[in-house]
Amino acid sequence: TAAASQLPGLDASKLTITKTTTPKEPMDSKDLVFGKYFTDHMLSVEWTATDGWHAPRIVPYQNLSLDPATCVFHYAFECFEGMKAYKDSTGGIRLFRPNKNMERLNKSSARIALPTVDGDALTKIIGEFVKLDSRFIPDARGYSLYLRPTMIGTQKTLGVGPPGSALLYVIASPVGPYYPTGFKAISLEATDYAVRAWPGGVGDKKLGANYAPCILPQLEAASRGFQQNLWLFGEEEYVTEVGTMNLFIALKDKETGQKELITAPLDGTILEGVTRDSVLTLARERLGHKGWNISERKIRMSEVAEASEEGRLIEVFGAGTAAIVSPVRKISYRGKMVQCGLKEDEEAGEIALQMKNWIEGIQYGDEKNPWSVTI
Ligand code: PMP
Repeated sequence: TAAASQLPGLDASKLTITKTTTPKEPMDSKDLVFGKYFTDHMLSVEWTATDGWHAPRIVPYQNLSLDPATCVFHYAFECFEGMKAYKDSTGGIRLFRPNKNMERLNKSSARIALPTVDGDALTKIIGEFVKLDSRFIPDARGYSLYLRPTMIGTQKTLGVGPPGSALLYVIASPVGPYYPTGFKAISLEATDYAVRAWPGGVGDKKLGANYAPCILPQLEAASRGFQQNLWLFGEEEYVTEVGTMNLFIALKDKETGQKELITAPLDGTILEGVTRDSVLTLARERLGHKGWNISERKIRMSEVAEASEEGRLIEVFGAGTAAIVSPVRKISYRGKMVQCGLKEDEEAGEIALQMKNWIEGIQYGDEKNPWSVTI
């Protein structure tokens, strides 16, 4: 509404900082477990339908206190982001394409009637927060500070409607390399009894409500010895994404032998991964002239299986912030095992390795690139 658009936006210059009086010792790097330990502080900004965004605050990491009737607990008014801060070789702190996470956060929040926020202002105050807690960022390669921007509806009501108040907060967790001893190719189980997302749905938004229903198929796959499940869609069994990663498939064309790197298109049924976009961009810039076609297109699981049987499947890998790339050894599909191009003693294909090196080089500032933003 016109009135709503007049409300105050997020004002980074109003940031206040209340430091903890009980600072913690950062965990020993070797003992880090993903998402288990947090830094001393958190960033917190309230929003109300009457006053817009309030002044942002950095405060000691602390519990939230919410009435049991708060709408987030009943109707899942929650969305989030996942991004990382990296320490470079000169001690500088960098974010990787933060504008992408801000855009995605706003698409997510808008879809569930939560407020949108000025992405540049939010990146700025996230930068202040990360600087304050920078001693928690291990400076070894592969280590980083995982950032979790989160937005929840905080209105106290069981009435189903747009929340009149919201809380945006950011917490930070030091994390180690996904593959501390080098790549370990994973095995997938293609899920044929459940779908993650559908056209017109919200699978392309980062809503908490999209994640809880994915755990059961994940447990099912794990019970049969697979690290992740692969989400297929529709009667055609299109390959969509894997666990919490986008998926890339490198194969040779049946007729022409043309090499093609394929990932699912942004048709609403996959999350718009920042890593996916980065892999696509780098592939187009740096692999195109090496005889690769780079495609965002639908591909059936049966095509992947056929390519494997005919020796045309070159490699398969997942792509996401956590691991950058995650090579796939095999996929269980319709009672058969689809081998994904790796030799028995190989843990990663050439493209996956190349992408990890390129992207990591940018994230840690070794390669000068506008994607890496110093804070
Ligand atoms: N798909 C899903 C369902 C995810 O949760 C994630 C992680 N955010 C991704 C893909 C990869 O996205 P990104 O590269 O932005 O981490």
